[in-house]
Amino acid sequence: MTSVSPHKKAKALKPTSRRPAKELCSECGLCDTYYIHYVKEACAFINQQIGELEAQTHTRSRNLDNPDELYFGVHQDMMAARKQQPIEGAQWTGIVSSLAIEMLNRGLVEGVVCVQNTKEDRFQPMPIIARTPEEILAARVNKPTLSPNLSVLEQIEQSGMKRLLVIGVGCQIQALRAVEKQLGLEKLYVLGTPCVDNVTRAGLQKFLETTSRSPETVVHYEFMQDFRVHFKHEDGSTEMVPFFGLKTNKLKDVFAPSCMSCFDYVNSLADLVVGYMGAPFGWQWIVVRNDTGKEMLDLVKDQLDTQPVMSQGNRKEAVQQSIPAYDKAVTLPMWAAKLMGVVIEKIGPKGLEYARFSIDSHFTRNYLYVKRNHPEKLEAHVPEYAKRIVEQYKLPD
Ligand code: FAD
Ligand code: SF4
Repeated sequence: MTSVSPHKKAKALKPTSRRPAKELCSECGLCDTYYIHYVKEACAFINQQIGELEAQTHTRSRNLDNPDELYFGVHQDMMAARKQQPIEGAQWTGIVSSLAIEMLNRGLVEGVVCVQNTKEDRFQPMPIIARTPEEILAARVNKPTLSPNLSVLEQIEQSGMKRLLVIGVGCQIQALRAVEKQLGLEKLYVLGTPCVDNVTRAGLQKFLETTSRSPETVVHYEFMQDFRVHFKHEDGSTEMVPFFGLKTNKLKDVFAPSCMSCFDYVNSLADLVVGYMGAPFGWQWIVVRNDTGKEMLDLVKDQLDTQPVMSQGNRKEAVQQSIPAYDKAVTLPMWAAKLMGVVIEKIGPKGLEYARFSIDSHFTRNYLYVKRNHPEKLEAHVPEYAKRIVEQYKLPD
């Protein structure tokens, strides 16, 4: 007689039901499946356990005395890279989509968890298990909204798949790692992207309407290393808005509470991470965390130009000044914002120092958010590495 796994007796929540993490829920998708059985241990917002899961995944947790590991997590290599032939319509040069296609074509995996958008709305996420290169390509470009990527987990067991690649952001990957052993897989590969300041679909609308000159034609956007938001429009034009000119007073509560309480910007538990913020403008930033990540990257190395990571400038002053500015929701007049953007771009942090600038500004902001809104969670929810990063700055009460 075969025994039934305990989770199979659990029932997914209805889409309208309140989630166990309440307002901190990032809609990662776990609770849309019978794996909700494990939610109390697995949810990134109920049970922060990055250190333990790092040890499970990479054989050790990060060395807090190594300055690069403190910031970027366990890794064996970092580099800047870009595809020699970029994929049209990808968020950056399409390294993520290319890697997934290569793994599928070479038979390393039978399926890829990724997120397409619905037919009606280019920003409405629709997670799938892709089984063809075309389906992976159709998932290229960021859906800058909370996305229930793990909602497809039940389909894995049902399909009998044994080798799987999951593409996802930090909160999704934390929950995935916590239930990994229950999935019945022979091999799981995890390709992560950094993630910050995500929004609900309604929040995205508000952001586009308060920030872009033509919200309805935006096809994608990114907070770039030149301290501007770059909006790409349907007609191919690019609109640039300086960070310092964002209407912080209107945008203050646009970011999801989950993202205001997140300290896993760099996706600590993925095997391989592909972002942009530690690389020069126009390049992507790659962090190889373990041997599985190295095996994955080797598959596409011949399609990439690479260069070593660099670091330049000093972020500390800019971060310290951003803390009260954000806290008091100050908005600079547009001429001053543009000027400040130009000055900072000329003398400001670049490469890994820019990544540290972004991590520091978000961790200090999020630390204050948790302290004020969920003080009872502060001690256990903020990982030790984040506490050390935040301690470098003077915070308001
Ligand atoms: P593509 O080949 O275009 O593939 C993109 C992949 O992302 C697709 O496979 C798709 O399945 C997946 N995806 C899209 N939307 C989501 C989503 N909402 N949740 C989970 N998976 C998704 N990098 C930084 O360095 N710094 C940042 O601050 C940063 N912020 C980000 C914020 C968000 C909300 C997201 C989704 C990503 C962010 N990234 C950030 C990562 C970066 O923007 C690119 O996604 C990454 O560099 C890969 O680019 P690419 O051209 O190789 O991807
Ligand atoms: Fe469930 Fe994920 Fe929301 Fe946590 S973040 S309550 S695991 S859906």
